[in-house]
Amino acid sequence: MEIHSVSFIKSSAHPRECPPMDKPEYAFIGRSNVGKSSLINMIVGRLSMAKISSTPGKTQLINHFEINSDKKDESWYLTDLPGFGYAKVSKKERVKWERTSKQFLEGRTNLMCTMMLVDSRLKAQQVDLDFMAYMGETGLPFVIVFTKVDKLNKTERANFLSGYTEVMLNQWSKMPPVFITSSETKEGREELLNFFEQTNSLF
Ligand code: GDP
Repeated sequence: MEIHSVSFIKSSAHPRECPPMDKPEYAFIGRSNVGKSSLINMIVGRLSMAKISSTPGKTQLINHFEINSDKKDESWYLTDLPGFGYAKVSKKERVKWERTSKQFLEGRTNLMCTMMLVDSRLKAQQVDLDFMAYMGETGLPFVIVFTKVDKLNKTERANFLSGYTEVMLNQWSKMPPVFITSSETKEGREELLNFFEQTNSLF
């Protein structure tokens, strides 16, 4: 797939304000600072498109972008969900984030897949594992997108991947699909675009 156009559609504070569920959609979710804005910009090939959501813990908005809107039968939504796990956010805000995100994910019938971003420099974070467990229990399809892999050398990368797989397999009978990415080197971009193209055809 090639991306030939990107339009910002809207920011929504609540799932009921989101655009119509008339095209395939992919939600990007992850802890603050995981590299979500950078990855989205890397995918769409435009600088600062996702800047709108870059203030950690502040912007609790669901941001919809329409990709390839110039070709009606090829267009899809890329959705930037608010980051979670930011230490300075109050418990009340965390609860609100969780409620809004879960309402969004469970109510969005056009959602093809959730892209669960995971920082490859950190050991498996409980909050990420808990969120994946929730998605599994709820029957929401997701893939893991490991970010910032340019920071790891070959050995570190292999160790990280085997370590993460081991942790996942304590909880899951098999690994979900995994993408290994870097916004710096654009590693993983083509694989992600192929994934969107193939999955869009199921809509
Ligand atoms: P967000 O809070 O999840 O949207 O994260 P950002 O995209 O703002 O990135 C957080 C920090 O990680 C920034 O300092 C980025 O420059 C850095 N970063 C993001 N992606 C990468 C990457 O692929 N490689 C490297 N080396 N740094 C990255």
